[in-house]
Amino acid sequence: MSARILDGVPLADAIRAEVAAAVKRYAGDGRKPGLAVVIVGENPASQVYVKAKGKACEEAGMHSETVRLSERTTEAELLATVERLNRDPAIHGFLVQLPLPSHINGERVLNAIDPAKDVDGFHPVNVGRLSIGDPTALRPATPFGVQQMLIRSGIETRGAHAVIVGRSNIVGKPMASLLIQPGTGGDATVTVCHSKTRDLPAVCRSADILVVAMGKPEFVTADMVRPGATVIDVGINRVDDASQPKGYRIVGDVAYAPVAEVAGAITPVPGGVGRMTIAMLLQNTLQAFQQAAGRA
Ligand code: NDP
Repeated sequence: MSARILDGVPLADAIRAEVAAAVKRYAGDGRKPGLAVVIVGENPASQVYVKAKGKACEEAGMHSETVRLSERTTEAELLATVERLNRDPAIHGFLVQLPLPSHINGERVLNAIDPAKDVDGFHPVNVGRLSIGDPTALRPATPFGVQQMLIRSGIETRGAHAVIVGRSNIVGKPMASLLIQPGTGGDATVTVCHSKTRDLPAVCRSADILVVAMGKPEFVTADMVRPGATVIDVGINRVDDASQPKGYRIVGDVAYAPVAEVAGAITPVPGGVGRMTIAMLLQNTLQAFQQAAGRA
């Protein structure tokens, strides 16, 4: 195995420590950033994420609130919760955990969140701000975390050809927006691929930095990677594995072992990008708090 492993654990820990240090400084003036997470229903994966977010928030010294609503909550009731959090002065950022039950229109809920408190960065106002390079944009945590991994691992994005596989609104598109902005962690030449891309392997092989966010277990193989390229695996997939106590294991969208033989650097799954996401959510909450304080 030749690739350098981009370990998300120390990187995420460093960001969380920086956030905690900033929170401590504000605590001296009696001020505290607050994050709320709204969860509707009992989706087991969502329950795990929400618990982890609340715990991370408390560990960073922030005020944390989890709003648990039943599966039968109506859209009007959820919108009323969003309105309450929009007005709550103790809450500087909040998110509504996805997926939502099918009887609720997720777009309507998302659009009701005050963009200044939209720590997921999914509101159209934040999407627009990110796209025009406005530094007040709240940036979606996962691609923001990828960008931080690149910066903090000393991987040069400037002038590099970054190929992103996946064009979702939560990963692929904001990843492209971040990497093409001028400045640190940007200035890349970006290609975004999707299911209609012609000759995906050839496009991937042209990448200096390959970011994969497809949701397809171990799809990217060694022949799709240029020797020495940096490979960032965003994918989190459960695959059946009878040898594991839980009956499954977690793999990325990249065939890790063979790709690590050719890549220059690679993120593991788990322990790579996934570790960064919550750290960036805390960072976003701190940013929302600081921006609110600036406006006060
Ligand atoms: P989506 O399903 O929303 O998007 C997947 C994208 O991959 C689509 O744009 C799709 O193309 C593209 N795609 C699928 N198959 C192919 C193919 N054969 N060739 C080329 N492109 C293809 O997924 P997300 O962006 O939400 O998530 C991607 C992965 O990242 C998932 O495994 C998810 O679990 C993980 N994830 C991890 C996070 C973390 O914290 N680490 C956070 C968020 C997501 P098209 O648009 O044409 O359909």
